Amino acid sequence: MTRDYTRDYWETVLSGLELEGRHFIDGAYRASSSGETFTRIRPMDGKPGAQLARGNAADIDAAVAAARAAFESGVWRKKEPLEKKRIMLKWAELIRTHGEELAMLETLDVGKPVMASLTVDVRLCADGIQFYGEMIDKIYDEIAPTGPNARALVRKVPLGVIGAITPWNYPMIIDAWKLGPAIAAGNSVVLKPAEQSSLSAIRLAELGFEAGLPAGVLNVVTGYGEETGKPLALHMDVDMIAFTGSTEVGKLIMGYAAQSNVKRVALELGGKSPLVVFEDADLDAAASAVAWGCFYNSGETCHASTRLIVQRSVQETLIAKIEAVTRSDIALKHPLDPAAQIGALIEEEHMNKVLSMIAAGEKEGARRVFGAERVLSETGGYYVSPGVFVDMTNDMSLARQEIFGPVLAAIPFDAEEEALRIANDTIYGLAGAVFTRDMDRAHRFSEALHAGTVWINTYDMSNFATPFGGFKQSGFGRDRSVHAIDKYCDYKTIWQQFG
Ligand code: NAP
Repeated sequence: MTRDYTRDYWETVLSGLELEGRHFIDGAYRASSSGETFTRIRPMDGKPGAQLARGNAADIDAAVAAARAAFESGVWRKKEPLEKKRIMLKWAELIRTHGEELAMLETLDVGKPVMASLTVDVRLCADGIQFYGEMIDKIYDEIAPTGPNARALVRKVPLGVIGAITPWNYPMIIDAWKLGPAIAAGNSVVLKPAEQSSLSAIRLAELGFEAGLPAGVLNVVTGYGEETGKPLALHMDVDMIAFTGSTEVGKLIMGYAAQSNVKRVALELGGKSPLVVFEDADLDAAASAVAWGCFYNSGETCHASTRLIVQRSVQETLIAKIEAVTRSDIALKHPLDPAAQIGALIEEEHMNKVLSMIAAGEKEGARRVFGAERVLSETGGYYVSPGVFVDMTNDMSLARQEIFGPVLAAIPFDAEEEALRIANDTIYGLAGAVFTRDMDRAHRFSEALHAGTVWINTYDMSNFATPFGGFKQSGFGRDRSVHAIDKYCDYKTIWQQFG
């Protein structure tokens, strides 16, 4: 970062933006076939933001047709690997070059601090596209063992047309997790971003096209889930749906696949991740990990550490430390303020849902230690302060439901087996963590925790080399890492007999 970012600077960036809200299909912008649009309300101040095309089944048909034509023509999948790599690396570079603009689009839509959008979301999006671009000329096919009179090639081939349906909490990052491996593998994609967060997806597609992705390889259709996501998932000419979102909609997606053409499905779904702290742990490190793990992105994180399972003897001390870290380090401010660490929730309806879940939790007996209330209402935006609840048991709603807001439920335990039982007593299995200085226990516990990722004495550390995804009702299939490519390919055997 070379610039000295100020609120005034970001206001200037904002006032210079031209918001593009049309679909991006076959290398060009298109209004919805119905001509209809909808208005995105800005979470930072409740004011009207972008006008977006309200997509429908006909728009999905057009996007799928463009994607299919690009795939069948081979204009992308048959290109020289080096050339494909060069295009994807250029795309990653363009994302970096346009980082401030993309960061502002993300912040306008999502309400997260623009500095976080720039330094985390834009960076990881570009890194993701680069990671998979770099893989393109490093993937080998196989030759299977046969007798001397035959040769069997086992080819890894792209599936065809991928429908990607993504959520609003980390739009650019999750788009890159899907677009990177799907496109690197040679597929074409129709991306349906969440209705709340379409702007960065549209711009990403345009930048991909500018970098050299042929028309039709990446298409974006904006609109509501029922009107665009559903026809995409039911489409007879889509080979796979890569979905990230709620468990509830993930189950619908499985149904759509079954009702249509038995397309493949990969699901990254919800979470209610446990973070377990034993009394021998470094409590300062644990407090910081809990606070950032739960409250970063205003708690709108699938793997947020929303359940603190803490040994009773240190509960009081740890909660005091969490409160101190939260108050001193996690500044909740207007998203254009460079000092903001967290910003607004995604929309008014969601804020009200979070507040009503908090109220219901208190009625059940959860005791508020601090926070968890609406703040900055004078801005017109949708802000809820980070908050902690104690006197909890794991059967209370705040400990079971995915709140998707900055709310921590602290549940005490006495013995290790009890901690493990509580940690695993959830329908989800996305992530978890254990804090202890006893490494035997740390590894024993990590093996026994049913979660796609387990951290030891840290939280939310990752890179592109590690797979990410869930067990149980957190879904199946993995984003990130070299393994993600497999999801977008199939094996094809070509057997040749000699003599
Ligand atoms: P959501 O309501 O399930 O929506 C996800 C996507 O599905 C959106 O694009 C949505 O469109 C679309 N959709 C809604 N109804 C649909 C339908 N009937 N058919 C097809 N598509 C449909 O989730 P969200 O509220 O955006 O995101 C929050 C959820 O995502 C949380 O549960 C969170 O845990 C999960 N998540 C998981 C991960 C992970 O990696 N496991 C990562 C991030 C988020 P519209 O919203 O535009 O209508």
